[in-house]
Amino acid sequence: MSTHAPMIDPFGRAVTYLRVSVTDRCDFRCSYCMSEHMSFLPKADLLTLEELDRLCSAFIRRGVRKLRITGGEPLVRRDIMSLFRGLSRHLDSGALEELTVTTNGSQLTRYARELADCGVRRINVSLDTLDPEKFRAITRWGALDKVLAGIDAARDAGLKVKLNAVALKDFNEDEFVPMIRWAHGNDMDITFIEVMPLGEVEGQRADQYLPLSEVRQRLAQEFSLDESAYRTGGPARYVTARETGGRIGFITPLTHNFCESCNRVRLTCTGTLFMCLGQEDAADLRKPLRASESDEALLAAIDSAIARKPKGHDFVIDRQTRAPAVSRHMSMTGG
Ligand code: SAM
Ligand code: SF4
Repeated sequence: MSTHAPMIDPFGRAVTYLRVSVTDRCDFRCSYCMSEHMSFLPKADLLTLEELDRLCSAFIRRGVRKLRITGGEPLVRRDIMSLFRGLSRHLDSGALEELTVTTNGSQLTRYARELADCGVRRINVSLDTLDPEKFRAITRWGALDKVLAGIDAARDAGLKVKLNAVALKDFNEDEFVPMIRWAHGNDMDITFIEVMPLGEVEGQRADQYLPLSEVRQRLAQEFSLDESAYRTGGPARYVTARETGGRIGFITPLTHNFCESCNRVRLTCTGTLFMCLGQEDAADLRKPLRASESDEALLAAIDSAIARKPKGHDFVIDRQTRAPAVSRHMSMTGG
């Protein structure tokens, strides 16, 4: 097995996890993620899939062990499976521990089996409601039955599915218990996420924001929750519901900041590296990538970016703070 020593940031954190947004486009328009009339990058600005492979491979040389392909909706990018196929060589060599994807599920009936063939073992599917009409309302363009069929296809292909639901005030709070029961009944973990103030969207963030500390208290009236030591390498903290035996995760960037254990950086489809989801500072990797066929300049640019990874984000959602913490939408960096 060939593995590489990890990069260490100025706060002593090992950076072993890269998330790659392969497109900013999406076949949905979730109201907390995008505005209804989003403008997208011109296609000519996108890195090619070969360039994305080269970038990911450079990070693996620098000790990245886990790679998550995200977006926008990653599975709507043309020929995306060629990227998965190419990257799977790093799983075969042992340099990469995990290759995975976060998807809205709309294309899974088509791609689940191929993902499994490429060595993907676990995937995250975003699902905020089990009600078809509410699903259409929140995604603006999505169809629940298609996503549920996608989840079935994924499970049939042997992929372990974890559900992600954004906790939205007055929208899905009454559904958390049935969603948990449904997820656990189908052998899936489910993680709730606090809405983050990224990018301009219609409406006010304060109207969407539901603190998970509150949700957890409410869930504790329904289930006996046991703290779990389970971790997936991400910021979620898990509890197990004794009644179902399944896990419930909480991602709480607002109520409990987890930056001290941050192990990740995020790459956009234009080759911009964000060292923190909640800060504007970024490094351009496209220039060194294209400057030469050797990876020397690229590796040096990665090293100098990691050397300025910030300590953490300063997200705020309240009635006084109107502007988003950062101007870019979540679809640029993929969550
Ligand atoms: N399209 C794919 C999907 O929906 O899973 C991948 C990209 S999407 C940006 C990744 C995750 O970010 C999804 O689970 C989505 O619900 C979440 N997300 C988007 N905007 C968010 C926001 N402002 N706050 C919190 N989570 C957000
Ligand atoms: Fe698309 Fe995912 Fe954003 Fe929804 S959350 S609009 S599916 S990128």
